[in-house]
Amino acid sequence: MNEKCLSCGMPIETGAYCQHCVDEHGHLQDFDARFARMVAWQMRKGTAKGQAENDTLDYMATMPAWADHPRVKQAKPSPSSLSRPPCLDNEDA
Ligand SMILES: [Zn+2]
Repeated sequence: MNEKCLSCGMPIETGAYCQHCVDEHGHLQDFDARFARMVAWQMRKGTAKGQAENDTLDYMATMPAWADHPRVKQAKPSPSSLSRPPCLDNEDA
């Protein structure tokens, strides 16, 4: 047990992904499938939906399989958006 699933971080015997993260053909499931499952798992522990979604995106950003996914990157505040909230973009009216 010295491998970790590249999608969810679960310790595995060998390979790149654990059995929960692949489809019946052994291919990594798509982002939406994994995201939905991870959010549902968080919510079963009593986490509110919005918080569960944020936590899941934060977690997926640390996973090699998802760190470069557009949906994960989109959720990460970029330095420019931190210094300039999006709502200010409409203030020239
Ligand atoms: Zn996994």
